Amino acid sequence: AKLKGGNRMAQFEAEFDHERNMRQTIEEGIRGGLDRGEFAVHYQPIVEAATGRVGAVEALVRWPGREEGQLGPDVFIAVAESSGLIHQLGLFVLRRACEDLRDLHDLSVSVNVSPAQFRDPNFEYNVAEVLAEVDFPPSRLELEVTEGYLIEHPDRAVAAIAALKRQGISITLDDFGTGYSSIGYLRRYGFDRIKIDKSLAGRVGADPQATALVSGTVAIANALAMAVTAEGVETADHALLLRAAGCQKLQGYHFGRPVPLADLRRALSNVDRP
Ligand code: C2E
Ligand code: CA
Ligand code: CA
Ligand code: CA
Repeated sequence: AKLKGGNRMAQFEAEFDHERNMRQTIEEGIRGGLDRGEFAVHYQPIVEAATGRVGAVEALVRWPGREEGQLGPDVFIAVAESSGLIHQLGLFVLRRACEDLRDLHDLSVSVNVSPAQFRDPNFEYNVAEVLAEVDFPPSRLELEVTEGYLIEHPDRAVAAIAALKRQGISITLDDFGTGYSSIGYLRRYGFDRIKIDKSLAGRVGADPQATALVSGTVAIANALAMAVTAEGVETADHALLLRAAGCQKLQGYHFGRPVPLADLRRALSNVDRP
C-alpha cells in the first residue's frame, strides 16, 4: 500500500520495480546464455615473486557482448548467486578451465567458488567428477573461496574444505583484507594460501598501515604454513614492495590482464619458461 502523498515512496517503489525487472532480465539472460554457450573464460597470469615465472593462472568468467555498460562479472555473478544459476555457471567455468589448461602441464589454475556453491552438499563430489571426466590432476587445481560463508557455516565449510583437500585440491582464501576475520581465526580452515585483495595490496607503499598489515599477514601466514599471493599489482614499484613484504606470488595488470586462452598461450611461448 502506498503512503498518502508519498512522493518519495512512489519513487522508491518505481526504483525497486526497475531493479527487480533488471535482475529478472539478467537472470533470463544468464539462463539462455548458458544454453547457447555464450560464456567464456579468460586467464590472468600469477607469477612467482622470486623468479617472475608464470606458475599459475586465475580463471575469470566473461560474458562477451554483455560487459559494455555495467554488466561485468561482479554484477552477473551476484544475480547468478541469488537465482541459483551459479551452480551451473560455476561448474561450467571449472570444466572449461580444466579442458583449456590440461596440456599446459606446468601451470596451476585457480577457480573462484561462490559461497552458494559451497553450501551445496554435492559440491565436492561435482568437482571430483569434472576432474575425472576432463582427466585434470587435482594437484594443479586451486579453489578460491571468500570468508563470508565460512563464518556463517563453519562446520560445513570445514568439512567441504577437508574433503576437497583429501582429493589433492588446494584451497585459497580470496579477498583477504576485505572481511573482518583475523588470520589466526581463519587458521582452523586449513587454507593452503591467502590472497590479499587489491584494495589492501594496492595501498602498500603509499600507506604505512597497509604496508605493516601486509607484512604482518605474510609473517603469520608463513608461520602457519600458508603461502601468500597479492593481487592488483599494477606497477613495477608495487611488485617490488609486495615482494619485499614477503608475498610469494603476484598477480595484476603489471604482469598481464585476463586474456583468452589463445593470447595466454602466445604470451607464455614468448617468455623463457624453465
Ligand atoms: P576476484 O576473484 O577478486 O578477481 C580479481 C579481479 O580483479 C578480476 O576482476 C580481475 O580482472 C581484476 N584485476 C586483476 N588484476 C588487476 C589489477 O592489477 N588492477 C585492478 N584494478 N583489477 C585487477 P573481474 O574479472 O571483473 O572479476 C570480478 C569478480 O567477479 C572476481 O573478483 C570474482 O569475485 C568474481 N568472479 C569472476 N569470475 C568468477 C567465476 O568464474 N566464479 C565466481 N564465483 N566468481 C567470479
Ligand atoms: Ca579470485
Ligand atoms: Ca579480490
Ligand atoms: Ca572476489
